Amino acid sequence: MIALTGLNLEEMREYAVSQGLPAFRGNQICQAIQKGLTFEEMTVLPVSLREQLALHAVAQPVRIMSRYVSQSDDTVKYLFALRDGNCVEGVLMHYHYGYSLCISTQVGCKMGCKFCASTLEGCVRNLSCAEMIGEVICANRDLGHKGRVGHIVLMGAGEPLDNYDEVIRFLRLVSREESCGVGLRNISLSTCGLVERIRDLADTHLPVTLSLSLHAPNDRIRKTIMPVANRYSMDEVLSACRYYVETTGRRVIFEYALIGGVNDRDEDAKELAGRLRGLQCHVNLIPLNTVKERNLKGVDEQTVQRFLHNLEKLHISVTRRREMGDDIAGACGQLRRKVLRQPDQKTAALTADGGDKNETQLFNEYE
Ligand code: SAH
Repeated sequence: MIALTGLNLEEMREYAVSQGLPAFRGNQICQAIQKGLTFEEMTVLPVSLREQLALHAVAQPVRIMSRYVSQSDDTVKYLFALRDGNCVEGVLMHYHYGYSLCISTQVGCKMGCKFCASTLEGCVRNLSCAEMIGEVICANRDLGHKGRVGHIVLMGAGEPLDNYDEVIRFLRLVSREESCGVGLRNISLSTCGLVERIRDLADTHLPVTLSLSLHAPNDRIRKTIMPVANRYSMDEVLSACRYYVETTGRRVIFEYALIGGVNDRDEDAKELAGRLRGLQCHVNLIPLNTVKERNLKGVDEQTVQRFLHNLEKLHISVTRRREMGDDIAGACGQLRRKVLRQPDQKTAALTADGGDKNETQLFNEYE
């Protein structure tokens, strides 16, 4: 089965021709796919043709399984169902500059960060380019006349640079007009710091923003919360970031989740400022979302402000991340875990999704 959301216009026209159709059918299918239509809903095509296509192709590889709307703002958290019975999360946020969608790049994650819920069961599999585009199409269809996704952050479940080839395919396709038309400059990719891949990404010259999950001022602290720090030292990570800045001319964003008693002291801020000196960058302070399976505490607002002022005094550009939809956001990965623990909800969701026995069996692997 080929998932058509992963094809660009030329590939879609070639696909149409390979099915014995005139190439213009490819244009029609491409437009319909972007609207989020299933084959059944593609009424511009004759019924017989829709049936023929459905034998070997999937129009929409992602469906919305459930959606949670924040009471405090317009934030929507989605649980997306994939065709093999897996599910991933996404979050749609409404900013003054438009809609921004946070997408997942893997089912689970194998990086093992101690504060993160997405990695608790390891990585099940990579998402394909077609599935990542599918997440955006789902949000666009859900938005309807309200607007379209204009910004994307690769900050949901998964380590994007651990799924490098499909993520690069996604970046090249999602920015095309016939696809989702989200400009690369409006896309941020967040990584825990896979050094070789950061350099590879820089060499592609795709003008995305690199966000680096640093979370510590030195290797000693970083190793206690991020296993990846045993593989790459902070010096190696920061030198890859420097290469990214030099190659792309774009500043790097450092993400720093404040964890009580771990990385929130005044001397941590000072050490961090020293490490970042001379690097064209910005620090994003994130109040930790507590994960109940993890034994880590967040910090109070006073600590956030103190840390922020310490960095400012040392001339580091820094902001505190705004919290969106705090009643529904929770820690990324929690929603999927909740579904995995509730077999009834799984089955119901799959039935609604047209899931077959096979899909249900795949789901059961996690019980
Ligand atoms: N694997 C990538 C992208 C996914 S995580 C990465 O590591 O960057 C997206 C961001 O959320 C990262 O900065 C991550 O460190 C942060 N994060 C994960 N769990 C969190 C939590 N419980 N509270 C606050 N931030 C968290």
